[in-house]
Amino acid sequence: MRSASAHRQPQALGNPACVVGANQSCEHALVDQDLNERLYAYERKVRGRFTPIVELLKTLSGLQHERDFVPQAQQLAQSQLGYDLPEIMLGDAWISGLDLRSLYAHCIFRSFKACIDGSAEDQSPWLSRMAIDAPFLQACGYHTLDISPCADGRLQGLLPFVFRLAPNESVYLKAYAGALFDIEGDVSDWTLRELERLSSNAKGSDSCNYLKIAVYHYSTSNPSHQGCAAHGSQDHQATIAAIDKLNELRAAIDNSFGLGAAPETLLIGMDTDTDAIRVHLPDNQSAHSAQRYVDSAQIFKDTLGLSAQSAREAITRTVTSAARDCGLRSGMQRLIERLLEANLSQIEYVIQHHDGRYSDIGHNERFICAGEAMNELQLRNKFYFAHLDTVEEGAADLDVGIKIFTGLNVSRGLPIPVLVHFHYCSRVPGARERTIHRCQRVKSAIESRYASLHTQGFLQCQMAISDLDRSERCTWVESSQTAVVH
Ligand SMILES: [Zn+2]
Repeated sequence: MRSASAHRQPQALGNPACVVGANQSCEHALVDQDLNERLYAYERKVRGRFTPIVELLKTLSGLQHERDFVPQAQQLAQSQLGYDLPEIMLGDAWISGLDLRSLYAHCIFRSFKACIDGSAEDQSPWLSRMAIDAPFLQACGYHTLDISPCADGRLQGLLPFVFRLAPNESVYLKAYAGALFDIEGDVSDWTLRELERLSSNAKGSDSCNYLKIAVYHYSTSNPSHQGCAAHGSQDHQATIAAIDKLNELRAAIDNSFGLGAAPETLLIGMDTDTDAIRVHLPDNQSAHSAQRYVDSAQIFKDTLGLSAQSAREAITRTVTSAARDCGLRSGMQRLIERLLEANLSQIEYVIQHHDGRYSDIGHNERFICAGEAMNELQLRNKFYFAHLDTVEEGAADLDVGIKIFTGLNVSRGLPIPVLVHFHYCSRVPGARERTIHRCQRVKSAIESRYASLHTQGFLQCQMAISDLDRSERCTWVESSQTAVVH
């Protein structure tokens, strides 16, 4: 057993766990080191598809008047990005100049598509090692997890990295600015899920419940500037707003379907600097308190140097003690303990691979995804997600996204790539055509809302659709494509 103090030297910034110095190892007995290596390989692979884009375009910009520009450009794109660029965007460069904004957006979308197409292969090394999967959730008493984090891109790696939760068919992820999820939309999702459950009569489903999780976030190193933009970086406000939403959802379902029908709820806070979490402990009525939580960063510090068994027992003691007055259900306690334990691996991941605290503690997303996100890409700061059905309803989320990207991209001459993506169900006749039509409506509405950016070429929209039954994923829809509405 090692002494915790022997290699814990918190920096001036106040890292919650530790800093790895020369020849120091920073291993916690409950950390899954092998899983961390697999996730790091995934992170490098995915980021590697985006990192070369800007430098490549700078090179192309310098070469565009060369006589053999097109073959040179294609050779460079293939070697650095792994795909060809559209000939139509290169062919006229000698006379009219490269449209670098369009080309930049094209590359962002094309690299994203490469992540979608390669997701099964990219994720298979870590998917089966996740600490929380569907059978575990069922053992805790949950048939469905409906998770609403903030749309902030820093929460994009929530499932596999921060929660170590395997994305699966019983997990729904819908992000909203400030984690302010849509009550009517959630009631509708809950109703549909209950109907599916009752009609399928799936094994064990009658004894399980639906669990709604809201995830707010905060920044420990720059709390008043790098917290949640939707709440003016006021942590307490972000927490209370999420609690109110969870209460409203329970009331909506109880009032509509009878007392006792409401799903269980869980509130989690996330430090976007370090990926540590605060798990709030619900009472036996699923009510939350802003002050009643267990902090994984504190657990990391308290249990470092202990054996795996002792550390696990310490987690149980901490949760039991914090929950002494709330009558926590045993399945919920088991889930909370597993979430805390799994997060210790992520704290160590950030220590080992990001010096204990992300260098980009603020926004650094590559594009905005408007509509419905795909589960295939789960990595911090890859895209800002605005969950919406119509632009009118999602305007607040989109405005926040556009504001973020005006600082990130427009300020240095780069456009804002916006992917408009929706799912359809191929079992439903006409659904594909209706979804294409919906993409076109949303794209037009976005271009009208941000008309000034659009006319200057600073807003680049791409439409895409995916089948819920997975016959196609992220298929591009061209603006000229005619939607046949049945
Ligand atoms: Zn936020």
